[in-house]
Amino acid sequence: MAENIRLEIVTPDKSVVSEDVQIVVGPGTLGEFGILRGHTPFLTTLNMGTVRYKDAGGAERQIFISGGFAEALPDKVTILAESAERRRDIDIDRARSALARAQKRLEEAQKEKLDYARAKAALDRALHRIKVASSKGQ
Ligand code: ATP
Repeated sequence: MAENIRLEIVTPDKSVVSEDVQIVVGPGTLGEFGILRGHTPFLTTLNMGTVRYKDAGGAERQIFISGGFAEALPDKVTILAESAERRRDIDIDRARSALARAQKRLEEAQKEKLDYARAKAALDRALHRIKVASSKGQ
């Protein structure tokens, strides 16, 4: 079997993932990418979405990220994200409340010239969190 690659996912507050994994799949802004050990180095920006990886034991894991940057080196992938949560750490009730708040703000934004982009980004984060938390896997 191929050797593992180190995966580090960090936010401004904390390290969310720091482990050796078999493969990493992420939402690059130019398209989804997959990285195995030995990959050619590259740097990319990331969309909001899901980073998937197979841990050293072969279990599939999912991490919500709010967007950011990824640096791939032959033996290491580093993902810097504004916020990131493991699937099991997502509080789905909190995400549902955030969704309801964002929907209300978006309705108000039509009438009152509130910050539409900000409300839309909050809505997208909540929807993605609900999607990841509701999906199968770990
Ligand atoms: P909220 O309005 O609920 O705070 P948000 O989208 O504004 O949601 P962020 O700014 O993306 O929140 O994140 C702030 C912090 O809270 C980060 O550390 C993030 O990981 C955490 N966080 C936000 N929502 C959730 C959630 N539903 N479950 C677990 N952690 C969350």
